[in-house]
Amino acid sequence: MNELRVFFRHGLFILLGLSLLSCATTGPGGKKSFILISESQEIELGQSVSEQVLGQEKALADDQWQAYLTEVGRKIAAVSDRSTLPFHFTVLDNDQINAFATPGGYLFFYTGILRMMESEDELAAVMAHEISHVVGRHSVKTIQAYYGGAIAANILLGDQADKEIGQITEIVFGLALRGYGRSNEHEADQYGLHYMTKAGYNPQAMVTMFEKLAAASGDRESNFFEGLLSTHPDTKDRISRIKDQIAALPPENANRPLIKTKYAQMKSRLPAPVEKKEP
Ligand SMILES: [Zn+2]
Repeated sequence: MNELRVFFRHGLFILLGLSLLSCATTGPGGKKSFILISESQEIELGQSVSEQVLGQEKALADDQWQAYLTEVGRKIAAVSDRSTLPFHFTVLDNDQINAFATPGGYLFFYTGILRMMESEDELAAVMAHEISHVVGRHSVKTIQAYYGGAIAANILLGDQADKEIGQITEIVFGLALRGYGRSNEHEADQYGLHYMTKAGYNPQAMVTMFEKLAAASGDRESNFFEGLLSTHPDTKDRISRIKDQIAALPPENANRPLIKTKYAQMKSRLPAPVEKKEP
């Protein structure tokens, strides 16, 4: 909690002083956005949320998987518009079908979603989507929009500070798990497709991955890929936008061979899912 307090004290100075206002690159083609929270503060916040995640969840005890996820992640991060950010990638031993990113580049993939994929390209599709949330500063922008002035006012009053900081950590964690709203999700799909293709993967894998997620979502409303059903734009609409974007790419991209053998080998290393007992 101390780190968060330091973070918000620093944040306060920026919000009040308005001396470090900056436009950061937040997307392909040199897209800029007005960002109040500095990169080091964003990383500090991400570290706090990451510690919270690792306090609640179990990292998969398989160095080969952790290294493989990091290898695929770094390949995409390197061609992204935040290639200098030190990203961190962790497989969590959990049967839920989910993956998420915190601010500052801490990404988590559940074994449940890894089991569903059939190629490294499908892993790259979800990876590129999550990296794009970090590039687009989607959580930082949401904090700014909701809390900009309120953080300053409440922290100045002092006694509200702990409550406020607790709420913000929860909001950041909740956003990461449930998705960032329609326009940010479309943006993450769009940038993600661009980055995965640039990294050498077959963009068609984003279509097959979303089709798998849509088929598997069934009547699940929570604990599913970023809360796909509750807050994400209609999956059919997402898939059709992705297809339009692929159609505008040189056709050879969609003919790249899928990396299936290596992925199947890695998948066979995953622990078997915990069998659910009937109530
Ligand atoms: Zn998302």
